[in-house]
Amino acid sequence: SCSQSPYIVQSTCAYCGVGCGIDITVNNGKASALVGTVEHPANFGQLCVKGTNLLATTDLTNRLLEPQINNQTVDWPTATQHVADKFAQIIKEHGPDAVAFYVSGQLLTEDYYIANKLMKGYIGSANIDTNSRLCMSSAVAAYKRSFGEDVVPCSYDDLDSTELLLITGSNAAWTHPVLFQRIERAKKRNPAMKIVVIDPRKTATCQIADYFLPIKPGTDVAFFNGLLNYLSDNNGLNRDYITKHTQGFEQAALAAKKWSLAEVSAYCDVDQKTLARVYQLFARTEKVLSFYSMGINQSNSGTDKCQSIINCHLATGKIAKDGCGPFSITGQPNAMGGREVGGLSNQLASHMDIENPEHRSTVQGFWQSPTIANKAGYKAIDLFDAIDDGKVKAVWIMATNPMVSLPDGNKIARALNKCEFVVVSDCAENNDTLDFADVKLPATPWLEKNGTVTNSERRISRQTNAIAPSGAAKHDWKIIADVAKAMGFSGFDYSHVSEIFREFAQLSGFENNGKRVFDISAFSAITPRQYDRLKPLQWPVNDTYPEGKKRVYEDGQFSTPSGKALFFPITPRQPTQKLSAKFPLRLNSGRLRDQWHTMSRTGKSAQLTAHTDKCYLYINPDDAARLNIVNDEIVNITSSVGQAAVHAKLDKNQRLNECFMPIHWNKQFASSANVSNLYASITDPLSGQAEIKHGAIALSKT
Ligand code: SF4
Repeated sequence: SCSQSPYIVQSTCAYCGVGCGIDITVNNGKASALVGTVEHPANFGQLCVKGTNLLATTDLTNRLLEPQINNQTVDWPTATQHVADKFAQIIKEHGPDAVAFYVSGQLLTEDYYIANKLMKGYIGSANIDTNSRLCMSSAVAAYKRSFGEDVVPCSYDDLDSTELLLITGSNAAWTHPVLFQRIERAKKRNPAMKIVVIDPRKTATCQIADYFLPIKPGTDVAFFNGLLNYLSDNNGLNRDYITKHTQGFEQAALAAKKWSLAEVSAYCDVDQKTLARVYQLFARTEKVLSFYSMGINQSNSGTDKCQSIINCHLATGKIAKDGCGPFSITGQPNAMGGREVGGLSNQLASHMDIENPEHRSTVQGFWQSPTIANKAGYKAIDLFDAIDDGKVKAVWIMATNPMVSLPDGNKIARALNKCEFVVVSDCAENNDTLDFADVKLPATPWLEKNGTVTNSERRISRQTNAIAPSGAAKHDWKIIADVAKAMGFSGFDYSHVSEIFREFAQLSGFENNGKRVFDISAFSAITPRQYDRLKPLQWPVNDTYPEGKKRVYEDGQFSTPSGKALFFPITPRQPTQKLSAKFPLRLNSGRLRDQWHTMSRTGKSAQLTAHTDKCYLYINPDDAARLNIVNDEIVNITSSVGQAAVHAKLDKNQRLNECFMPIHWNKQFASSANVSNLYASITDPLSGQAEIKHGAIALSKT
């Protein structure tokens, strides 16, 4: 065999929505080292500890390397035909809505596009939803409702220039570390920059805060309504902007009217003086950026929470300009790609709507497909309810582990047990969801897979196959396209992933004419070679903006029919999962610094696992003393739907009566440490996002 000298492959990190560029050194077909890409605008060479340790997570332990039917190894043609036949049979017997795909923000945009094309344009159902529903669907719903399109108007550059940064519902120091480091640098350069952290927990992010508001969980809307009211009463409005570029301000202001400083301080349980100071800063500072994440989104009123933030930016005109705006920071590596190609069950590709007949005919016309779904499909939680009810009889789960991540794990297990046909495509061989699979399909993981992702600032970036697929692992888009072909559908003949990118770039410009901001038609004729050298660019990327665009809506023209952004009047709602005598403690959950999702990859790295060796329930020391719980003892946790047992960690950063548990541990690493089991299936009625920050639990000693 001939050996090659080492070379560099440029890719993007597999984890969070920051979307850091990575230079991988490949030596004789193996990845031997990696560093951050110096010229990548998301990270300029920085990486966090998760990114730095990526190569330690890519060995072949716990890798699914061959297709299996009923745990017997088979070849690809057999597995593909079996999946195609079973889906076809169930569709024939029960109609297209009896089948579903449940996909993931771990998929690349090309994978997402093909899965959507098959389900919505060929099978003829919109029963395809994604674990992104758990992550940012409330932010999507609010942007769409207010701006007419799911568009994040900001850029990471705004972190460098802003004068006031509100970080709310986000422990950015741990969940988006490279952005957090960027904030630290900005503050160092400009010590006058003020940072406000609003969070029930005193997290690592608070270290940088000038003001910290340990808000009562679930009261964010009152906080931002109070801000809107303060702006109205204290000469903080931009009347010119409101008149020229928005609609509905008066109703929103009226709904906020009752939220005086005293009201908000009592309702949110925060110090009134600090509150007044923060409101005053927002009113007086020219450049204000609000940075928000899962603490806002994962709620029964997540859309309204996002909207209440947007309302304040619209009312002041502090939006779509340098250092300003409502900035949703998403969780997963493909923060936006799925949204761009119709990854959610209520969307079509290219930001078009399934309920809009004109959009349906545009997409179907472009695809030349036999059909097009004409109504929204099930959203994630409803989808598993529909499986439990027997309405959905076949599900194909791709690149996600719903047994650990969806609320009410007992219900998910019951649903998957009942389901007639369960297919799971994954790179892992052993996870909690694979236990339920009739068919297991080995998919390529990061390092082996090839395509694009879009990060939290609309930047499209390449994830590149630095090494060849291991075993019989196949790319997700290829697995799906092969099943589509085996079902007898044409329209899935792709020889290279760049052809899929080219196709959805063409669709984004097809009958668009400036109607939608998402337009990457500049790539409509991209060659495989150009695709391999794709620079990370922020969409839109079209004839007008061939190099992409840092900010959108700068001209005050939004994507709504009137061209104006819409305010919505918001009334706070309490969390649905109420505390009671039986379940008197609030359960919050989230990420740790060094783990990712359900640990199927990060759990492999000794260095990452060393940060927090086991799953803890974090509890205020006074609560622990009252319950006679000592540090590190194992406690039983119960809720109305499930139970868990983990070690207690006494932590004075927890508010009284509020506990915190990480989301990560799967059954491989701990037998009874799944936080999702403790949450009831409660969702935001608009976004369908689950309320997984507000559980109600009881603790007992073992
Ligand atoms: Fe960057 Fe996020 Fe990866 Fe860390 S986990 S290197 S912040 S993309």
